[in-house]
Amino acid sequence: MRKIYLDHAATTPTRPEVVKAILPYFTEAFGNPSSIYSYGQEAKGAVEEGRAKLAEFIGARSEEIVFTAGGTEADNLAVKGVAYANEHKGNHIITTSLEHHAVLEVCKFLERRGLRITYLPVDKYGLVDPDDVKKAITNKTILISVMHANNEVGTIEPLEEVGAIAREAGVYLHTDAVQTVGHIPVNVDKLRVDLLAISGHKFYGPKGIGALYVRKGTRLASLMQGGEQEKGRRAGTENVPAIVGLGKAVELARQEMGKEAEQLTHLRDKLIKGLEERIDHIRLNGHPTRRLPNNVNVSVDFVEGESVLLNLDLEGICASTGSACSSESLEASHVLLALGIPPEQAHCSLRFTLGRENTEADVERVLEVLPRIVAKLRAMSPLLKAPKQE
Ligand code: PLP
Repeated sequence: MRKIYLDHAATTPTRPEVVKAILPYFTEAFGNPSSIYSYGQEAKGAVEEGRAKLAEFIGARSEEIVFTAGGTEADNLAVKGVAYANEHKGNHIITTSLEHHAVLEVCKFLERRGLRITYLPVDKYGLVDPDDVKKAITNKTILISVMHANNEVGTIEPLEEVGAIAREAGVYLHTDAVQTVGHIPVNVDKLRVDLLAISGHKFYGPKGIGALYVRKGTRLASLMQGGEQEKGRRAGTENVPAIVGLGKAVELARQEMGKEAEQLTHLRDKLIKGLEERIDHIRLNGHPTRRLPNNVNVSVDFVEGESVLLNLDLEGICASTGSACSSESLEASHVLLALGIPPEQAHCSLRFTLGRENTEADVERVLEVLPRIVAKLRAMSPLLKAPKQE
């Protein structure tokens, strides 16, 4: 059976061009970038080339990029790093209720240690109101953290407006751009952010590599003590192969991102429309237009998301019920709850995230298979006592 992978928000396959670029850095070019002899300098050159490519891609300078072990570490470094380095200025952080756990859990961690955190609500589409951000700022606020686009429902936040507010108030702005870099245009000056988190495996690069953009002049504490790598902002020998891979993924995204977004938007809209036509009692979650090109998130009443997933898997289709992490816990997704979706509907949610290798035929297959699965599950569902088909 041909497998259809529709979970690109969880991770993407590493592109063969990326793997090819990485391989020599395990063997013939294995040096430590801190070594002064030629092996080391060759590795250092590769790291700096990767850094330059990434910096240019997001409108930054090379020295403003800190490589990390992924998006989670980049978010941790941003939020904790600002909190620790700016204790003298204040103890208040503003964020939103639909952030990824990599931000939310850090905020909770800091809250337990005495910081004050404001978790702003979002509207039914998942949008934060920039006015709410403005109202929440006090003279103790040191950081605002608002994600660029949400990983579960795909809503793209009004970051430019939040950026203008943060800048006027003189407060640092961090954004988790893990789901946008490599997919839609990201420019740190246009968004007016001071810190921006990136992850390689979300756009066809390797896992375990990411970066934090840190605007020049931002006061940031290091979370790792050790060597002087990354100008003292992240100690530890650089992951040279992964950095090379990230650079290659950036290079490919730069060339192909625009066309890919067009194709994905077309497939996304075809899938949404097709599902709405074929399945009763189905609702799109997230914003209808301010939405990532590849994201389809729906609630299908009277079925349980996990049961649908297992049935889809039997048909060779891989999707998700929310974020990859929350699908293990079976708790209703905090993102859907933040949108005001009742827990019973949140449990009926399905997320399909398309990728560059998906085709019209893949979408047609989902449109053929899913209504059948939903009808079967509804027929035996305790959630649906008296089926009401309109
Ligand atoms: N932030 C968002 C929005 C994500 O979707 C993810 C991954 O699921 C992360 C952060 C964590 O990134 P990583 O897997 O590279 O640690």
